[in-house]
Amino acid sequence: MKRLGPSLLLSLLALCALPIAAQTSDHTPSAPAAKASRPRVIVIGMNGAEWDILRPLLVRGDMPNLKKVIDNGVSAKLKTVDSPNCPKVYSTFATSVPPSEHGITGFLVGGIPANTNMLKKEPLWSILSKNGVTVGMANVPATFPVMPVNGYMISGMLTRGKDCEDGVLCAPKLSEVQGGDAVYPKAMVAELESNVGDFLIDCSRMPSSAQLNGNEEKVVKDWLAGVDQVRAQQARLFDYLLTRHPTDFTMMVQSCEDRVGHWLYPIQPFHAGYNPKVASVDVNAFPNQYRAFDKVLGMVLRHMDESTTLLLISDHGIKPLRYSEDPHMHMDHGGTTPVIAKHDYDDGDEVPGSFFAMGPGIRKGRQFFGLPFTVYDIAPTILHLYGIQPAPGMRGRVLNEIFAGSPDTQIKAQSQQTEMRHH
Ligand SMILES: [Zn+2]
Repeated sequence: MKRLGPSLLLSLLALCALPIAAQTSDHTPSAPAAKASRPRVIVIGMNGAEWDILRPLLVRGDMPNLKKVIDNGVSAKLKTVDSPNCPKVYSTFATSVPPSEHGITGFLVGGIPANTNMLKKEPLWSILSKNGVTVGMANVPATFPVMPVNGYMISGMLTRGKDCEDGVLCAPKLSEVQGGDAVYPKAMVAELESNVGDFLIDCSRMPSSAQLNGNEEKVVKDWLAGVDQVRAQQARLFDYLLTRHPTDFTMMVQSCEDRVGHWLYPIQPFHAGYNPKVASVDVNAFPNQYRAFDKVLGMVLRHMDESTTLLLISDHGIKPLRYSEDPHMHMDHGGTTPVIAKHDYDDGDEVPGSFFAMGPGIRKGRQFFGLPFTVYDIAPTILHLYGIQPAPGMRGRVLNEIFAGSPDTQIKAQSQQTEMRHH
């Protein structure tokens, strides 16, 4: 009898999975039957992937899965918006319009934590849903309260709840969410709780200077152990969703990398904010987040087949403090944690994001230089993969040059410009 337990549970799970898929499509606002088989696209978002850290790890062979994507696909820095931060840029990814137009201009908008009710442009997931594409999303920043889609959505950064009333750079557990739904459809909450557990929706809050003082080593180590746990839960969630609820379009985001970088970036003594008591605890704390991310990426790659397109995108990079243009530069958004690295520089080109793509029809081993790709181009390019026209007003373009056989017009234009400048 005991041996029957797990397999019986699995069959029940399989049965549970079906009604949810069926149920969610009922909520779709008119889903025209598009092509019989739609492309499968998986978008993995990495919050604040910094090339200065990625590159040496790639050289060392410490990110074998990212290396695989780079070798078998295209890679580039991604031009981001000015003073970039997560909610602002992820909402730009989704709408292809500037933050002033989509409405999510920061963590707080008019003093209120950014939320989906403030979104003034139709996001990618709604456009895809309307066109009959099945959509699955997990932990995408600024998606709280969740919106109805042709599939499922689990909110991410800026989800509010117990001990995280404003939702800013903290995280409630699934069971402690307040002020809105974190899961669509609601019926999925119980399923996730029993199969994945009561996971934290976003990365943990950074410790305050009061907590750190005199206890640096213990606080840093305990906090990092907590971060490992959050990532393990997120990876389990992603693995479960990709296995049990495969969708045409899937988007999942990791957020701990950025959080760690803000206060544990491996800086030198000449950097602003250097505190040897914190900096010496674990110089690998930040690079280790990328090594851990690479393992999560490896899990996602195992869910891909030759007809799946993978887009790996990052909203911005993160650099040690180097301009005093922000009055709160030594504190995080909550004003309690001493921050030694940041990304909301006035000039977004200081901290470009990143773009990787791999899949059928995509060039192999091609790196694009300069900043020919921007955060505005993500939505039009994803819509293009499904044969859907960009929505009117979208600022971005389809990144045609990532596809094999297309002319490198953009790159040529860039090099001509450079040549002209040199003359
Ligand atoms: Zn950040």
